[in-house]
Amino acid sequence: MLEKPIQSVEDYKQSLRNRKLKVYFFGELVKNIVDHPVIAPSINAVSKTYELAFEDEELATAYSSISDKKINRFLHVAEKPEDLVFQNKMQRRLGQLTGTCFQRCVGMDAINSLHSITYEIDEKYGTNYHKNFLSFLKMAQELNIVIGGAMTDPKGDRSKKPFEQEDPDLHVHVVDRDEKGVFISGAKAHQTGCLNSHWLLVMPNGSLTEQDKDFAFSGAVPVDDPNITYIYGRQSNDLRHLDGSEIDTGNFSYSGQEALIVFDRVFVPCERVFLDGQYEFAGTLVERFTNYHRRSYVCKSGLGDVLIGATATAADYNGVPNASHIKDKLVEMTHLNETIYGTGISSSNQAYRLKSGAWMCDDVLANVCKQHVTRFPYEMGRLAQDIAGGLMVTLPSEKDFNHDVAGPLLEKYFKGRKGVPVKHRARIFRLIENMTLGRNAVAYLTESMHGAGSPQAQRIVLFRKMDIAYKKLLSQNLAGIPIDRKELVKFPEYYKRVFNKSMRDEK
Ligand code: SF4
Ligand code: FE
Repeated sequence: MLEKPIQSVEDYKQSLRNRKLKVYFFGELVKNIVDHPVIAPSINAVSKTYELAFEDEELATAYSSISDKKINRFLHVAEKPEDLVFQNKMQRRLGQLTGTCFQRCVGMDAINSLHSITYEIDEKYGTNYHKNFLSFLKMAQELNIVIGGAMTDPKGDRSKKPFEQEDPDLHVHVVDRDEKGVFISGAKAHQTGCLNSHWLLVMPNGSLTEQDKDFAFSGAVPVDDPNITYIYGRQSNDLRHLDGSEIDTGNFSYSGQEALIVFDRVFVPCERVFLDGQYEFAGTLVERFTNYHRRSYVCKSGLGDVLIGATATAADYNGVPNASHIKDKLVEMTHLNETIYGTGISSSNQAYRLKSGAWMCDDVLANVCKQHVTRFPYEMGRLAQDIAGGLMVTLPSEKDFNHDVAGPLLEKYFKGRKGVPVKHRARIFRLIENMTLGRNAVAYLTESMHGAGSPQAQRIVLFRKMDIAYKKLLSQNLAGIPIDRKELVKFPEYYKRVFNKSMRDEK
């Protein structure tokens, strides 16, 4: 483990070297992840979270009462609603600067959820989980390391609970224990940003029953534990990073990262355990994590800013920046993008305090934000492709642009507006390709669909929280239908929070 805090991007990259990770990619064991051309862009994206903290302290750092110092915001427990709001601002900014998933919000949202859950389990059972968690977090804050959150089990047959699966390893579970700790086996699937983290916070994946007790586990595991195997996910067009053509990648510097993580009897000492058997808390932990994470998806509004800019640039290079239908489509993209941001940041603004002192964002608005995210980037991608035109998918390679014979032909026939170098046109088309059907479409589109829960998961929450009975009363009252008027002033839970004027003073 690190001996001194990470104080620069170089320190961060250095901290990832010389670890004995077992990583498979393309049927081979990868010896050096940091310099691997396909993996390096995902490490650059996380590096940007360090860079931003050094450059813009207000946006990307916060004072932590846990370690009594200024820390990276990704390691911070929200101690007031403004902390949640600033998380969203930082996420939008990092989306703008990387055009992809910068991978650290999963860990941040896991930290925030575990803070309150461990407190509440201890309150009920007299356990030591909150103390364990705080001492782990203090170490992470002091060393300025990266924490990944690991939640998504492969799940096997979706109609069955974990204990009913033919193969119990389809959900991470405790397989053995001794007086010093527990041993866990199983896997976490499509895990964002694991190789470039230092520790993983393992969490259960849904509500559990008493028979699922062994699956009710949460704890911290070092990424370089010898009993972990990683199988790196490939992304569309990822091999363009191997052929040395910067233009063809669309975004040479940044990408996301996903892997399957396999745990084979990984030992977790008692002091790194945050939940062990208290199955009734698993559902609440997942619910809190997804609430935080669904409004974290304002990250996509930062990517949207890039896509809107790329689309406007493409129109400009094509010579039609002032066509009225193009302006209108850019307005439509902006409207969609700001709706994502607006609902996410409102969720943070409507925060309420939990028993542990951590603040929780509004669940209805968080789910509305994420539901928008499952749709709007697709529509924005459609509009971007509409404006860019077919060249973004028929453009020859950079090597042809550099070829003695083909190059001059491409220069002649792919000219757009006077004064715009043809290669600049190619670069902007490739960026739109990258975000809408290339490597970073993983982050902008499909991750928007399924990350933090697929669309139906948000609709289930909205169905539970939409208070139809109360809304019916409101309408019946105005329509002159006799109702029990006392019911009208009994606000359901959600409206109590919406109309609570003093919640920010609650301490
Ligand atoms: Fe953060 Fe967005 Fe990536 Fe999730 S998808 S880790 S919220 S950047
Ligand atoms: Fe995600």
